[in-house]
Amino acid sequence: MNDIKCAFSIDFEDWYQGFEIFPMESWRNYEPRIERNCLKTLELLSDFNVKATFFVLGYIADKYPQSVEAIHKEGHEIGAHGYSHTQIFKLSPEKFNEEIRRTGNTIADITGKRPIGFRAPIFSMVKDSWWAIDVLVENGFKYDSSILPTFNYRYGIVAAERFCNEIKTERGNSIIEIPVTTAKFLNLNIPVGGGAYFRIWPYNVTRWGFRQVLKNGQPGVFYMHPWEIDAGQPRIKLPPRLYLTHYTGLDTTERKLKKLLTDFDFSTMADVFGFEY
Ligand SMILES: [Zn+2]
Repeated sequence: MNDIKCAFSIDFEDWYQGFEIFPMESWRNYEPRIERNCLKTLELLSDFNVKATFFVLGYIADKYPQSVEAIHKEGHEIGAHGYSHTQIFKLSPEKFNEEIRRTGNTIADITGKRPIGFRAPIFSMVKDSWWAIDVLVENGFKYDSSILPTFNYRYGIVAAERFCNEIKTERGNSIIEIPVTTAKFLNLNIPVGGGAYFRIWPYNVTRWGFRQVLKNGQPGVFYMHPWEIDAGQPRIKLPPRLYLTHYTGLDTTERKLKKLLTDFDFSTMADVFGFEY
């Protein structure tokens, strides 16, 4: 155990909502599993006495308010993850504003608190969506956790800062950016903070990365989805790369998570980075 706490976050969406090839209108065709996976995730966190930050999709908050209420009642932080899971750069500033306003309002109706943290769908805070920082600030968000300082075919800003930093916009707004953890290997930023990376690589890779950042005096930042511990979810036809990154390791992830929760001390994003929530 280290003195520094790490942040544990959950992108709270159902198993079929993270594919950019399935628009919101098609979601009703898939078997909903969010309620059972919510309970499973809450149980895992409670077993380790960990409070986490749930970045909730607005659509889910609208359809499953009881799940969001249950998360809130257990003392976890609720942040926002957009409404329709559309990558930001595919939205206009007006549409993005409408999405996060609607999501924020729904969350506030359920919990009595407005979210202060945001994570973009598919880490889509990239150069083409930089305007979104102003929209977030103007909607009361204090921090963003949407920039992955690495290369990926779907996202990432390779040259972005690896640790918590302040972003200032030309309009004079500022927000705190809290990137998911990457570790340094040679000259590369290796993503070790969750998702497909966590499921595909051996657990020790994440442990090595988290130890490295803690040694630098920085908290690790981890993220998962509730469907990543649901090995029984339907198998559907997907393009090969999406199939691989979605379905690999579903049966071993819970075991790996238990190791992670044993090896490191975790709390919410707000708690670890000193925000009032
Ligand atoms: Zn997502």
